Amino acid sequence: MSKEWKTENEDGSVTVRTCAWSPPGDHPVGYGMKLTVKGDKLIKVEGDEEHPISQGRLCVRNLTLADYVHHPSRILTPMKRKPEDRGKDKWTKISWDEAWDIIVPKIKEYKEKHGAESIIVFGGTGRQACLYYYPLGFASIGTPNVCYPLSGWSCYGPRCSITDYVLGAGYPEIDYAGFYEDRYDDPRFTMPELIVEWGKMALYSNPDGFFGHALIDMMKRGAKMIHIDPRITWLGTRCEEVCQLRPGTDSALGLGFLNVIINEELYDKDFVENWTYGFDELKERVQEYPPSKVADITWVPEDQIIRCARMMATAKPCSIQWGLATDENPNGVQMGHAILSLMAVTGNLDVPGGVTIGPPAALLGKWRVETRSNLSDELWEKRIGAAEWPALSTAMATTHPDETLDTLESGKPYKLRMGWFNSSNFITPTCSAQPDRWYHALKSLEFNVVQDVFMTPTAMAFGDIFLPVSTFAEQDGVVVTHFGRNAVTLGPINEALRVGDTKSDIEVCIELGKKMHPEMWDYDDVPDFFTKQLEPELGVDFDGLREMGAFQPDYIYKKYEKGLLRGDGEPGFNTVTGMVELSSTLFEAWGDDALPYFKEPPYSPVSTPELFSEYPLILTTGARKVTSFHSEHRQIAVLREIDPDPEVELHPDTAAALGINHGDWVLLENMFGKAKLRAKVTPTIHPKVVHATHGWWFPEKDAEEPSLYGVWQSNINTLVPHKHIGKLGFGCPMKQMICKASRLDSFDSYNIEV
Ligand code: SF4
Repeated sequence: MSKEWKTENEDGSVTVRTCAWSPPGDHPVGYGMKLTVKGDKLIKVEGDEEHPISQGRLCVRNLTLADYVHHPSRILTPMKRKPEDRGKDKWTKISWDEAWDIIVPKIKEYKEKHGAESIIVFGGTGRQACLYYYPLGFASIGTPNVCYPLSGWSCYGPRCSITDYVLGAGYPEIDYAGFYEDRYDDPRFTMPELIVEWGKMALYSNPDGFFGHALIDMMKRGAKMIHIDPRITWLGTRCEEVCQLRPGTDSALGLGFLNVIINEELYDKDFVENWTYGFDELKERVQEYPPSKVADITWVPEDQIIRCARMMATAKPCSIQWGLATDENPNGVQMGHAILSLMAVTGNLDVPGGVTIGPPAALLGKWRVETRSNLSDELWEKRIGAAEWPALSTAMATTHPDETLDTLESGKPYKLRMGWFNSSNFITPTCSAQPDRWYHALKSLEFNVVQDVFMTPTAMAFGDIFLPVSTFAEQDGVVVTHFGRNAVTLGPINEALRVGDTKSDIEVCIELGKKMHPEMWDYDDVPDFFTKQLEPELGVDFDGLREMGAFQPDYIYKKYEKGLLRGDGEPGFNTVTGMVELSSTLFEAWGDDALPYFKEPPYSPVSTPELFSEYPLILTTGARKVTSFHSEHRQIAVLREIDPDPEVELHPDTAAALGINHGDWVLLENMFGKAKLRAKVTPTIHPKVVHATHGWWFPEKDAEEPSLYGVWQSNINTLVPHKHIGKLGFGCPMKQMICKASRLDSFDSYNIEV
């Protein structure tokens, strides 16, 4: 793929080929787009049929990009507000120079008087923010406190960390021939016989650069599928098997599969003997999980457990894709460990059509964490939760999120005084637990900067300065799948237009960095910055990448045989033992069990039967929708027409017993919080489970406090408790809480206050 990236058309318009940062689905997706601009308007959005991965296909969010870019409520200039006016819509427009004249002295003052650790950066999705909130904190501001405010860091981070510890490699992703120009026809690739989609619906989420449609491509070419999910999704109806398990019991299911595969000697003996550590211990552990017992725990029938285990072991190759359910689970480290063990003992790691793995650290992802070299060891050790949670804080290089809320509430070990919200609307949250507690605690911050595209409940509540962010259509950048941890493709983001006086995340990093720590920001401009990241790794500058359109590195299979995973160049995996650690030396060193195990969710029919009699439904939340990216896109009329309201899925029998009809407003509540959602009555959900959508606020409602765009009315995360996390600090019970449901006469018949 090599072509002009900017074309002038006969009618005076200009078409720019670019790659999407965020929509469709997740981030960083990188799918090819053609954006046509006339004057200062984006007039046409198309999929780029020459892009090797997306091949012209786009989702509804990208197709409505022009509505987003030109939305009348976008914030297009910096603004300031008096501290006493927080929560009020009393903003004054200012210039970027004026904004910096306020922000820079404040940062310097806090650093001098209270230490750099008194400043905290909260990271969100942004329009590239999650690549740059680390360097914003470490290298532009100079604080060690960078926080991704998801309870138990419960998205993606846990999977990356488990992989670091067990495989010593980058992110494991199913092989969908994304590395090759000819894709599935490349002779190096083998079509998987079986794909296991576990706790994930990739068609909606396109997670972390994986193009969900690849699953359909591969099904059309003969791959069979198993879906493991409490809900029967569109994808599930096309699968050979759907294991409709009890939410939060995945690790038991994984151990049940391993029991069958090991006891029936269906495992890959050569791989196990030569490349794994702790097989005998694992064999002993899985005896505690016979299929009959696992069926009782998980609700998955015994014969289905045995059948699926045999399918996984005998399909050659078999590819397993794990999802968010791994992260949103306090028992998720063990679930992930069991799934990685399944990938390994079935001989499907790093083989064609199996599970690909990246090198331990990679382009851009590596760079952003390395900017911590700007901080002294003494300062680095002050990071909140670093000493208490080494398994999390070491791998993710952030504060511990739950510990951060405790610090805000208690002022210990020190008081946090300044906040920087980098596109993080986290009182309308993705996975922060009890956002009402965060809301009250965040009021203690003395000075806040908010960066975002639109005004949000979080910005309205806390911002003193608002810095407007550009969309990916308006900026130069680079997008790489899995943030470089398994770089299937890497593409340029090319600026097609600019609307208003906005800046991208990297522009803000560079501008502020030059004022605060110029030694860390020796870049002329954004293309120069990317050239300096790209050239040492790829031998190409930013303009070279623009010309390429998309860079696909070749893939080398069986890297562990070739000495390509370890720093010392020896064969093996980059772990303590040099092997895939079925028994983890690090988990044991950190005081956890070295082997995978099942632990009941903190609230469940088994662990809290009395509470369950009061709250007799299992609540699962966090599944992605095609019409929104977490709390984003609520203003876009076309998308709201498709998904107008927050939604709770109930089984028809459950709804009938509660007197709830399809379309009724429903109050969900438990010991921690309440939320109002519209009933969707569907047989695709288990009768004992309800699923609620997340990230809801209402841009059409009153902006000011106490409403804050109605943010407390349908805020499902208020039902998820803070700091109910795993032993190593990862995971939260986002998908396995308990609740009760009752019918409301209307949305307005009940008001929720926090
Ligand atoms: S929480 Fe959302 S934004 Fe964050 S890593 Fe997960 S999918 Fe991406």
